[in-house]
Amino acid sequence: MSRTAELVSTGRELLSGRVLNTHAQMLARYLAGVGVELVRDTTVSDDVAAIAEAFKGALSRTPLVFVTGGLGPTPDDVTRDAVARALGTTVVCDPDALAFVKQRYAQRRRTFNPASARQALVVQGAAVLPNPVGIAPGERLQVDDRVVFVLPGPPAEFRAVMAEHVLPWLATWLPSTAARPERVFLLCGLGESDVVTRMQEAGFPPAGLDVAFCARPGQLELRLLPSPGAPDAPALLESAAGRLRALLGNAIYAEEAVSLEEMIGRLLTERGLSVAVAESCSGGLLGHRITAVPGSSAYFLGGVIAYADAVKIQRLNVSAEALRREGAVSRAVAQQMAEGVRKALAADIGLGVTGIAGPTGATDAKPVGLVFVALADDEGVLVHENRFSGDRDEVKYRATQAALDMLRRRLIERAGPAAAGGE
Ligand code: ATP
Ligand code: MG
Repeated sequence: MSRTAELVSTGRELLSGRVLNTHAQMLARYLAGVGVELVRDTTVSDDVAAIAEAFKGALSRTPLVFVTGGLGPTPDDVTRDAVARALGTTVVCDPDALAFVKQRYAQRRRTFNPASARQALVVQGAAVLPNPVGIAPGERLQVDDRVVFVLPGPPAEFRAVMAEHVLPWLATWLPSTAARPERVFLLCGLGESDVVTRMQEAGFPPAGLDVAFCARPGQLELRLLPSPGAPDAPALLESAAGRLRALLGNAIYAEEAVSLEEMIGRLLTERGLSVAVAESCSGGLLGHRITAVPGSSAYFLGGVIAYADAVKIQRLNVSAEALRREGAVSRAVAQQMAEGVRKALAADIGLGVTGIAGPTGATDAKPVGLVFVALADDEGVLVHENRFSGDRDEVKYRATQAALDMLRRRLIERAGPAAAGGE
């Protein structure tokens, strides 16, 4: 049986541009991890006929179909009715699901009413997949030799039901076949053109291998894989991976799918060091990214969002003189912010970020995208001057990326030469 799947995404908001269809991306990634290719995503409105038609089409083409959204209590939540109609069956109230829904309402101190009970309706014959974080359960249906998953719309619920019920089930359903070998390298602090130049100068990649690039703000993903038509050659891949490490050094922050903030979390934990942040133009985004990692309380102490000069002076001990002479966006102020927060929060390492996110606030000498990032530790202070492109959101994001990368490189250096040279 082919290892392909289709997704039917439901919801008017996905078609009107109000909400980005993140399920398609999530599902494609999850499925790729178990060797299944998502071959089509059809997005339809909250309409029984439209959903039923899209679902029937998907079921006629692929052995595995996902339908998401529209399992809630409101009248426009019609997905289960549409799937039932397409299969020529009906929806029924599942007693276990009903008990679960009632229990969730009680836990959340919400009044259970007739509309709430809709969330316990499932397509006749479906296996009920309890929702670990929400109320409406997901469903799994066997239709001849095909399998259908009906999953809730809210992204956190979709992810939780996928992780808890769908992926473990897929692992047993699909006979595992070895995926084509490839290597992933995640880079930061080195531009795409620099990477390409280094590779060209070194005659990389060798014949039989290709390099695929995917650039994101402040980060580059690189995949090393067999060229189309070339045989899988694990030894060639292995030696090329070694050459790439030598070429790119510490710009490679990971060789697996982890975020930069997860990586600095690992490094800080290994070294038993703590960090605190002083943020001006990033407005708390750096702290947010660091705390997005579970377990970050082991190394993140906190931060000061020092947007106004007065806060920089009062909370971080930045000198009024430096602010007057150099301006808030300056090497001197970034340095004092990093030192100030390190001292104020008694952290091993302090980070300071100050810059011009735009679109206003630039001068001839200080353009939009000028960001100073500083790092203070027991050995002194480093300051980097950056010139970022992009709109306000992107400059803020790149500023945090630069701060995290500065921290990562410092942590690798601190460990001494033995641990340096890539992950
Ligand atoms: P609820 O019980 O919250 O009504 P539901 O299963 O009925 O959940 P929807 O009503 O379709 O799901 O959507 C709930 C929320 O999830 C909405 O904010 C919607 O925009 C979002 N959502 C649904 N589908 C997607 C998707 N494919 N990508 C991103 N967000 C989505
Ligand atoms: Mg809904």
